[in-house]
Order: sequence, then structure tokens, then C-alpha cells
Amino acid sequence: METVTTIAAVRERVQTARRREVPVGFVPTMGNLHQGHLALVDALRERCGILVASIFVNPLQFGPNEDLDAYPRTLEADQAALTEHGVDVLFAPPVSEIYPDGMSLQTRVSVPGLGDILCGASRPGHFDGVATVVSKLFQIVMPDFAAFGRKDFQQLTLIRRMVRDLSMPVTIVDVPTTRAADGLALSSRNNYLSADERARAPALYRSIEQAASRVEAEQGSLEAIAAEAMASLEAAGFRPDYFAIRNRHTLAEAGPDDRELVILAAAWLGRTRLIDNRSADRPDKDSA
Ligand code: AMP
Repeated sequence: METVTTIAAVRERVQTARRREVPVGFVPTMGNLHQGHLALVDALRERCGILVASIFVNPLQFGPNEDLDAYPRTLEADQAALTEHGVDVLFAPPVSEIYPDGMSLQTRVSVPGLGDILCGASRPGHFDGVATVVSKLFQIVMPDFAAFGRKDFQQLTLIRRMVRDLSMPVTIVDVPTTRAADGLALSSRNNYLSADERARAPALYRSIEQAASRVEAEQGSLEAIAAEAMASLEAAGFRPDYFAIRNRHTLAEAGPDDRELVILAAAWLGRTRLIDNRSADRPDKDSA
């Protein structure tokens, strides 16, 4: 695997592959890679002739009081893992390569409906930062396929919408969430948890699972199920941000006829904000 740090170098490597007419796969990340990231690489390997990954901790998607400086940076271990998983080119640019004029961009990509709800309501500007950097990375790498994790379900939904709205010539491949044996979704931010918090953290996914079984059995209204889950998270020592049961395709509030739902939650455990989700299907009206 070759590591490059400039836009010109990554473009040159991709163009060489394109001349051989091989499909280009791309996995954007912020580094500190774990099995969840590597599952994205594995999902693209079969269908792509060249695999490009990026590691870029994007300042534009962090709020002023968020963890930009503390975010774990582990380039050497990441390079070893990506090499082992068959990545051909790692693009690991400095901030000045992506934002040569600093953070005062005049042009940004925004997906207002999807970007302002749920995590977007708690993290104003976050999804503009995500949409802008992913658009830039797509312009730089020009991938045929790009992989995103369901772990960040709102992000995945927003990227799909952006690609559709802006007619971007890329197919988005979504990959199921990789979890630890106790159910906790793998995340670089799990590194911030103390031993005690790490032991309590799986309660987030458990609350989602419990809500999913109630949704699937139609036991109570969605509002009641969500309110109970918020209370169970508080009892487990979390400070819940939201617990929402939404239409799986639009993330809009679920109406009585919506069957394909997704349950999304965000909650603070000490100084760490954890998110998780899973899909839940209400039984068809006819079979109920
Ligand atoms: P990040 O480095 O956190 O920006 O994540 C880069 C990509 O990896 C995103 O598409 C995430 O959704 C995905 N990802 C992160 N954690 C997981 C996980 N546990 N399972 C599946 N995908 C993940």
C-alpha cells in the first residue's frame, strides 16, 4: 500500500487504474481504525480493482467544544491494518491540503432536512461539515463505489440523499454495524470510556433491542416505547440525547402506515457521546 498526502498524487494513482478500466472503491475514515472500518474495506474488495482509503480528521465537522484535538490519531497501526486488508492507496492529507484557505469556506454542501434533525440538532453544522468533506473527497478520488457504515445511520442516509440530489456518479455501499461481543458498536470514541463506563455502555444497544422487540410486536405506541427507553437509559447512568423511532428511508417521524422503521439513539456516558441504531419492521397491516 502506498500512502499519499496530496490531491495530485491520489488523482494520479486513481487515473492510472482507470486507464486499466478497473472499478475504483473508496472508504473515507477519520482513522484510529477498528474492525468496523475494515469491514467497509472488505465489502468493496470483490467489486473493485483498486481500493482507496482516506484518513482525515475533518475540522469542519467538529463543533467548537467537541473533541477535535483529543480525537485519537494512530497512523502507523492504521497503515498496517489497511495493508493487511488489501488497500492499494491511503490518502492521508494534512488539513492545509483539504482547506487551503482555512475553515472560512465560501462554498459548502448542506442537506438541510436530514442534516438538522437528531444528531444534527445536537451538533449544529456537523452534517454540513460531513457533506462538504465527503463531496470534496468524491471529487478528488472519483470513486465508482464508496462504503459507509450503518453505525452512523443518519450520515449514511444523508450521503445517499446528497449523491442523489447532486447526481454524483458513485454507488453507495452500506455495511452492517460491527459490534463487540457484548453488543457495543465499535467506535473510536469508545477509547474515551473509563473501565466502569465501558462495562455499562452495552446498555445503549440493549435499550434499542428492547424497543425493537416491542415495535415488532406492536406493544404500545412508538412514543411510549421511546419514552420508556429514555427512562431505562437514565436508570443505566446515561444522559440520553434522543431516542427516536423513524421511517427508515427518510428519517421522518413515523406515521401509522410506516412499516420499515429504524430506531436511533444518542446518549452521553460521562464525557463520551455514544450513538447506535437498528432497523425494526412493524408487521404488515394485513397480517397483524
Ligand atoms: P469514522 O472514522 O468514525 O468517520 O467512520 C468511517 C466510516 O466507518 C463511516 O462510514 C462509519 O459509519 C464506519 N464505521 C465506524 N464504526 C463502524 C462500525 N462499528 N461498524 C460499521 N461501520 C462503522
